[in-house]
Amino acid sequence: MSILVVGSVAFDSIETPFGSRHEVVGGAATYFALAASYFTGVQIVAAVGDDFGPDQMAILNRRQIDLRGLERATGRTFRWAGRYSFDLNARETLDTQLGVFESFRPRIPEPCKRPDFLFLGNIDPELQLGVLRQVERPRLVGCDTMNYWIEGKPEALRRTLAEVDVLVINDGEARELAHEPNLVKASAAIRAMGPATLIVKRGEFGAAAFGAGPPFAVPALLLDSVLDPTGAGDSFAGGMMGYLASVAAQGKVTDLMMRRAIAMGSVMASFAVQSFGVEGLLNLSRDQIDGRYEEFRRLSHLDEA
Ligand code: AMP
Repeated sequence: MSILVVGSVAFDSIETPFGSRHEVVGGAATYFALAASYFTGVQIVAAVGDDFGPDQMAILNRRQIDLRGLERATGRTFRWAGRYSFDLNARETLDTQLGVFESFRPRIPEPCKRPDFLFLGNIDPELQLGVLRQVERPRLVGCDTMNYWIEGKPEALRRTLAEVDVLVINDGEARELAHEPNLVKASAAIRAMGPATLIVKRGEFGAAAFGAGPPFAVPALLLDSVLDPTGAGDSFAGGMMGYLASVAAQGKVTDLMMRRAIAMGSVMASFAVQSFGVEGLLNLSRDQIDGRYEEFRRLSHLDEA
C-alpha cells in the first residue's frame, strides 16, 4: 500500500525553553512522510524553492520517500517560525513567509495518481479538492485543516470534507468547525459533513476518535523529556495512516485497526517531540517503535498489570 501526502515542506525556526534551531527542515508533509515511512511507501507532493539544497533533500531521501511530486520552484521555500512557552501546549507563531508556497498549485505527476491512501495536509481546501480531482479515488482519504481555513474558506472546506474519510484536527478546531463547544456533539456534527471518522488531537493529553461505534480515547505517552512539540500532530497523522496502510488489506479499516493506528500515531508523535525538528524521526528501528507501542499499551491498559 502506498500513501500520497500533500502539504508543506518548510524551513522552521523554533524556540522552546530547552533550546532553539534556525531554519531546519520541517513542514507538515515532511513530518507526516517521515513518520509514515516506517510502515509503508510514501510519496510527497509539495513545493520547495531553490534554497532547498542537497543537505535538505538528503533528509527526505534517507527514508526513501518518493520525491517525484516535489516541485522545485523559483523563489524561497516556505518559512515558519514559532516559540513555545514553558507550557509546551501553547505556541506562538512568530513569522510565516509563504515563498513558493503562495503560488503552489499541487500537480500530481503520473506515477502518483493512484495512491491507496491519500492525506490532504493543512493547505487551502480548494487545493485539497484539486488534488482529489487529480487522483483515482483512493481507498482512504485523510485530511487536516486549521482555523484559518475554517474561518476563511468554509464553503470550500465543506466540499472537501464531503469526500474525506478521516479528519484529523485539534480540539479547538473541532469546536470551531462545528460551532459547538461540546466535543461529543461537535463530532456528530462534523461526521455529518462527510468524514466517517473524526480524530481529535489534544496535545499532551492524547487523542480521541469518534466513529460509528462508541468514542475511543488514548492518553499521550508520559515522557521524561520533551524538547520540541513542532510536528507532533503531523507525525501522529503519519504514524496513524502509515500503520493503517500496512494492516488494512483492501483499505477496509476495522474498529480495532483504528484503535491500534491511533496508538501508533501517538508513538510516532512521542519520538518527534523528544528531539528538535525532524531529528527524532530519522533513525528509528522496528524494535524501538514496537517497544514504545508496548509501553503505550501498558500505560492505558486497565485489566492487567
Ligand atoms: P504541527 O506542530 O503539527 O502543527 O505542525 C508544524 C509544522 O507545520 C511546521 O513544520 C510548519 O512548517 C508547518 N506549518 C506552519 N504553519 C503552516 C501553514 N500555514 N501551512 C502549512 N504548514 C504550516
